[in-house]
Amino acid sequence: MFCVECGKEGKIFRNGVCISCYLKNNSFTKGPAVLDIYTCPNCSSYKYKNTWLQESFEEALKRYIKDSFQISSELKKVRIETDYDEKGKNITCKVTISGFLEGHELSEKCSLIVRIRGVVCDVCSKQFGGYFEATLQVRADKRRPTKEELETIRLNVENLVESLRAKGNRGLFITDIAEEHGGTDFYLSEKGSAYTIAKKIQEKFGGEIKQSSKNIGMKDSKQIFRTTCLIRLPAYRKGDFISLGNSYFYISSISGNKVHTFELSNWTEKVFDGKDLHKASIYGGKELIKEMIFVSQSKDEIQLMDPKMYKTFEIKKPKKVTFKSNIVKIVKIEDKIFLFPEKNITDK
Ligand SMILES: [Zn+2]
Ligand SMILES: [Zn+2]
Repeated sequence: MFCVECGKEGKIFRNGVCISCYLKNNSFTKGPAVLDIYTCPNCSSYKYKNTWLQESFEEALKRYIKDSFQISSELKKVRIETDYDEKGKNITCKVTISGFLEGHELSEKCSLIVRIRGVVCDVCSKQFGGYFEATLQVRADKRRPTKEELETIRLNVENLVESLRAKGNRGLFITDIAEEHGGTDFYLSEKGSAYTIAKKIQEKFGGEIKQSSKNIGMKDSKQIFRTTCLIRLPAYRKGDFISLGNSYFYISSISGNKVHTFELSNWTEKVFDGKDLHKASIYGGKELIKEMIFVSQSKDEIQLMDPKMYKTFEIKKPKKVTFKSNIVKIVKIEDKIFLFPEKNITDK
């Protein structure tokens, strides 16, 4: 068959013409000469329909082109390529759209002026307005949280907010952080996430969560509630010495509600539920540990000397062990003295 246009012999594509003549006379893409792209000057996200997306300029540009260009549905495996110099408010951009028409590859080029428009996004305008739905309060039971605890928790809350944002929850932000007398208050934009964060903090630091809700009025004929999530850290901390009944314990670690301890009188490990320790007495931490000089030992006892008083004394061994060091640690709680376990002891 001969092409009616170029007269060459070959395969006829459509309307009596060959593929190359057909492509010369038909176009499959059509776009505007000017394209406005909206970006937030504060968080540099790009507007997309009714929402905003955190993405690169190139990703936003391709998405805007896809939405504003008419691309024939006959064209398959469409690929958009852009070439531009990202400077200033008006960007001249070369657009190449390629694809396949019944297996024949083709590409069309056009030139586009991209205008960058600054508009504060929905989330940033909420943030500027001091918007919050929930308060996350960090306090401690029967004591004030230490500076270090509050500092660590603050970093944890900030990281949790960042990771939830990175997972797509861009409406979540910290409006304000207030240092209060008994701890820290975090003002958060979303009540659902406030509870998620509180739960994560509890898993790591122990304690209890109490949630309460307060009606703060009407907006758009809807009741508006504000949530408070209170995390009360436990009265005890890792490294503390406590007593329960007539037994004395050292807290070696805390994970969520589980408190890992060992009993000082027999050096056995014991795990408590946080709520079992409400009635525990707390004596303090490592300041109660004293170093004594080893003098001698028998099967059941060890003789030590207090280096400050030059006084020797005997303590019953909590279990059958042999001490190998010149220095032995003890703990004094009220009038009681316990041996504190160390690594350089052999079980025997
Ligand atoms: Zn032809
Ligand atoms: Zn923004």
